[in-house]
Amino acid sequence: MIIRNEDGTMTLGADRLPGSVWGSNLRAILPTSRWVALSRRTAERAGRVCEVCDQPSFYGEGTRNPDCHEMWEFDRNGSHPVQRLTGVIALCGACHETQHSGLAELNDRWESVIATLCRVNGWDRADAEADIGRSRDRYRDLSSMEWDLDLTLIDGWVTLDGYPDLLIPSEGRATLGNTLDKTKRKLSLVVGAEIPDAIWRW
Ligand SMILES: [Zn+2]
Repeated sequence: MIIRNEDGTMTLGADRLPGSVWGSNLRAILPTSRWVALSRRTAERAGRVCEVCDQPSFYGEGTRNPDCHEMWEFDRNGSHPVQRLTGVIALCGACHETQHSGLAELNDRWESVIATLCRVNGWDRADAEADIGRSRDRYRDLSSMEWDLDLTLIDGWVTLDGYPDLLIPSEGRATLGNTLDKTKRKLSLVVGAEIPDAIWRW
Protein backbone atom coordinates (compact mmCIF):
# COMPACT_ATOMS: atom_id res chain seq x y z
CA MET A 1 0.00 0.00 0.00
CA ILE A 2 1.42 3.35 -1.05
CA ILE A 3 0.17 6.52 0.60
CA ARG A 4 0.97 10.03 -0.57
CA ASN A 5 1.19 12.24 2.52
CA GLU A 6 0.00 15.84 2.65
CA ASP A 7 3.58 17.13 2.64
CA GLY A 8 4.29 15.24 -0.60
CA THR A 9 6.32 12.46 1.02
CA MET A 10 5.27 8.86 0.58
CA THR A 11 4.62 6.10 3.06
CA LEU A 12 5.35 2.61 1.79
CA GLY A 13 3.33 -0.15 3.42
CA ALA A 14 3.85 -3.83 2.64
CA ASP A 15 1.16 -5.29 0.42
CA ARG A 16 0.22 -8.48 -1.35
CA LEU A 17 -2.55 -9.15 -3.84
CA PRO A 18 -5.37 -11.54 -2.92
CA GLY A 19 -4.82 -15.01 -4.35
CA SER A 20 -8.14 -14.86 -6.18
CA VAL A 21 -6.81 -12.15 -8.56
CA TRP A 22 -3.25 -13.32 -9.17
CA GLY A 23 -2.16 -12.87 -12.76
CA SER A 24 -5.38 -11.09 -13.74
CA ASN A 25 -4.15 -7.58 -14.38
CA LEU A 26 -3.55 -4.80 -16.88
CA ARG A 27 -0.39 -6.45 -18.18
CA ALA A 28 -2.42 -9.57 -19.08
CA ILE A 29 -5.12 -7.54 -20.80
CA LEU A 30 -3.04 -5.09 -22.85
CA PRO A 31 -1.12 -6.11 -25.97
CA THR A 32 2.56 -6.39 -24.97
CA SER A 33 3.53 -3.33 -27.05
CA ARG A 34 0.97 -1.18 -25.21
CA TRP A 35 2.06 -2.43 -21.79
CA VAL A 36 5.67 -1.63 -22.73
CA ALA A 37 4.61 1.86 -23.89
CA LEU A 38 2.73 2.48 -20.63
CA SER A 39 5.71 1.25 -18.58
CA ARG A 40 8.17 3.39 -20.51
CA ARG A 41 6.01 6.52 -20.30
CA THR A 42 5.46 5.97 -16.56
CA ALA A 43 9.23 5.71 -16.03
CA GLU A 44 9.93 8.80 -18.16
CA ARG A 45 7.37 10.90 -16.28
CA ALA A 46 9.05 9.91 -13.04
CA GLY A 47 12.48 10.96 -14.33
CA ARG A 48 13.50 7.27 -14.45
CA VAL A 49 13.64 7.03 -10.66
CA CYS A 50 11.31 5.45 -8.12
CA GLU A 51 8.36 7.68 -7.23
CA VAL A 52 8.50 6.50 -3.62
CA CYS A 53 12.21 6.63 -2.72
CA ASP A 54 13.75 8.65 -5.60
CA GLN A 55 16.34 5.95 -6.24
CA PRO A 56 17.08 4.36 -9.61
CA SER A 57 16.32 0.68 -10.06
CA PHE A 58 19.64 -1.08 -9.62
CA TYR A 59 20.30 -3.96 -11.99
CA GLY A 60 23.59 -5.83 -11.89
CA GLU A 61 26.34 -3.23 -12.11
CA GLY A 62 24.06 -0.60 -13.61
CA THR A 63 20.52 0.66 -13.46
CA ARG A 64 17.37 0.13 -15.49
CA ASN A 65 14.04 1.89 -15.80
CA PRO A 66 11.83 1.56 -12.72
CA ASP A 67 9.00 -0.98 -12.93
CA CYS A 68 5.44 0.01 -13.76
CA HIS A 69 3.30 -1.05 -10.80
CA GLU A 70 -0.49 -1.17 -11.00
CA MET A 71 -2.31 0.23 -7.98
CA TRP A 72 -5.68 -1.20 -6.97
CA GLU A 73 -8.44 -0.40 -4.54
CA PHE A 74 -10.41 -3.31 -3.06
CA ASP A 75 -13.92 -2.04 -2.45
CA ARG A 76 -16.40 -4.13 -0.48
CA ASN A 77 -19.09 -1.48 -0.06
CA GLY A 78 -21.28 -2.45 -3.03
CA SER A 79 -23.32 -5.56 -3.77
CA HIS A 80 -20.19 -7.28 -5.19
CA PRO A 81 -16.58 -6.87 -4.12
CA VAL A 82 -14.77 -4.71 -6.70
CA GLN A 83 -11.07 -4.48 -7.52
CA ARG A 84 -10.63 -1.03 -9.04
CA LEU A 85 -7.61 0.28 -10.97
CA THR A 86 -6.57 3.58 -9.38
CA GLY A 87 -3.35 4.26 -11.31
CA VAL A 88 0.16 3.15 -12.08
CA ILE A 89 3.41 4.21 -10.42
CA ALA A 90 7.12 3.88 -11.23
CA LEU A 91 8.83 1.80 -8.53
CA CYS A 92 12.43 0.67 -8.08
CA GLY A 93 12.91 -3.07 -7.67
CA ALA A 94 13.28 -2.78 -3.89
CA CYS A 95 10.07 -0.79 -3.35
CA HIS A 96 8.24 -2.97 -5.89
CA GLU A 97 8.94 -6.18 -4.01
CA THR A 98 7.36 -4.73 -0.84
CA GLN A 99 4.08 -4.53 -2.82
CA HIS A 100 4.29 -8.28 -3.46
CA SER A 101 5.59 -9.19 -0.03
CA GLY A 102 4.08 -12.71 -0.12
CA LEU A 103 6.04 -13.50 -3.25
CA ALA A 104 9.12 -11.89 -1.70
CA GLU A 105 8.78 -14.19 1.33
CA LEU A 106 8.53 -17.24 -0.93
CA ASN A 107 11.66 -16.08 -2.75
CA ASP A 108 13.62 -15.69 0.49
CA ARG A 109 13.56 -11.88 0.18
CA TRP A 110 12.06 -11.24 3.63
CA GLU A 111 15.10 -9.36 4.92
CA SER A 112 15.16 -7.17 1.84
CA VAL A 113 11.50 -6.18 2.35
CA ILE A 114 12.21 -5.29 5.99
CA ALA A 115 15.27 -3.25 5.00
CA THR A 116 13.31 -1.30 2.35
CA LEU A 117 10.39 -0.50 4.66
CA CYS A 118 12.86 0.75 7.30
CA ARG A 119 14.87 2.79 4.77
CA VAL A 120 11.88 4.48 3.12
CA ASN A 121 9.73 5.13 6.19
CA GLY A 122 12.38 5.59 8.88
CA TRP A 123 10.86 2.61 10.72
CA ASP A 124 12.62 0.18 13.01
CA ARG A 125 12.47 -3.55 12.47
CA ALA A 126 9.46 -4.04 14.78
CA ASP A 127 7.47 -1.46 12.80
CA ALA A 128 8.30 -3.22 9.54
CA GLU A 129 7.43 -6.68 10.88
CA ALA A 130 4.11 -5.40 12.25
CA ASP A 131 3.29 -3.85 8.89
CA ILE A 132 4.07 -7.07 7.02
CA GLY A 133 1.83 -8.87 9.53
CA ARG A 134 -1.01 -6.47 8.65
CA SER A 135 -0.53 -7.13 4.94
CA ARG A 136 -0.70 -10.87 5.62
CA ASP A 137 -3.98 -10.53 7.56
CA ARG A 138 -5.46 -8.37 4.82
CA TYR A 139 -4.36 -10.88 2.20
CA ARG A 140 -6.19 -13.70 4.02
CA ASP A 141 -9.30 -11.59 4.31
CA LEU A 142 -9.35 -10.42 0.66
CA SER A 143 -8.36 -13.81 -0.77
CA SER A 144 -11.61 -15.37 0.47
CA MET A 145 -13.59 -13.31 -2.08
CA GLU A 146 -14.03 -13.26 -5.84
CA TRP A 147 -13.49 -9.76 -7.22
CA ASP A 148 -15.21 -7.95 -10.09
CA LEU A 149 -12.77 -5.78 -12.04
CA ASP A 150 -13.27 -2.03 -12.60
CA LEU A 151 -11.06 -0.55 -15.32
CA THR A 152 -13.10 2.63 -15.85
CA LEU A 153 -9.96 4.67 -15.18
CA ILE A 154 -8.74 3.81 -18.69
CA ASP A 155 -12.07 4.37 -20.40
CA GLY A 156 -11.44 6.18 -23.68
CA TRP A 157 -8.02 4.55 -24.10
CA VAL A 158 -9.07 0.92 -24.06
CA THR A 159 -12.22 -0.48 -25.67
CA LEU A 160 -12.91 -4.07 -24.67
CA ASP A 161 -15.24 -6.25 -26.70
CA GLY A 162 -18.14 -7.46 -24.53
CA TYR A 163 -17.52 -5.00 -21.68
CA PRO A 164 -18.01 -1.48 -23.10
CA ASP A 165 -18.23 0.01 -19.60
CA LEU A 166 -14.94 -1.69 -18.56
CA LEU A 167 -16.68 -3.35 -15.60
CA ILE A 168 -15.90 -7.05 -15.73
CA PRO A 169 -17.68 -9.44 -13.37
CA SER A 170 -15.46 -11.89 -11.53
CA GLU A 171 -16.69 -14.82 -13.64
CA GLY A 172 -15.65 -12.94 -16.81
CA ARG A 173 -12.07 -12.32 -15.74
CA ALA A 174 -10.76 -15.56 -17.18
CA THR A 175 -11.60 -14.23 -20.67
CA LEU A 176 -9.13 -11.35 -20.16
CA GLY A 177 -6.01 -13.52 -19.96
CA ASN A 178 -3.73 -14.21 -17.02
CA THR A 179 0.01 -13.58 -16.63
CA LEU A 180 0.37 -16.34 -14.04
CA ASP A 181 -1.21 -19.28 -15.85
CA LYS A 182 -0.15 -17.70 -19.17
CA THR A 183 -3.60 -17.83 -20.75
CA LYS A 184 -4.24 -15.34 -23.54
CA ARG A 185 -7.04 -12.80 -23.70
CA LYS A 186 -10.04 -14.20 -25.61
CA LEU A 187 -11.83 -10.91 -26.19
CA SER A 188 -10.76 -8.39 -28.79
CA LEU A 189 -9.48 -5.07 -27.65
CA VAL A 190 -8.74 -1.68 -29.20
CA VAL A 191 -6.17 0.60 -27.57
CA GLY A 192 -5.93 4.29 -28.51
CA ALA A 193 -2.67 6.14 -29.14
CA GLU A 194 -2.89 8.57 -26.22
CA ILE A 195 -2.54 7.18 -22.73
CA PRO A 196 -4.95 9.15 -20.52
CA ASP A 197 -3.30 11.31 -17.86
CA ALA A 198 -5.81 9.96 -15.33
CA ILE A 199 -3.69 6.83 -14.97
CA TRP A 200 -0.92 8.90 -13.34
CA ARG A 201 -3.21 11.25 -11.40
CA TRP A 202 -3.81 9.15 -8.29
ZN1 LIG B 1 12.00 2.83 -4.42
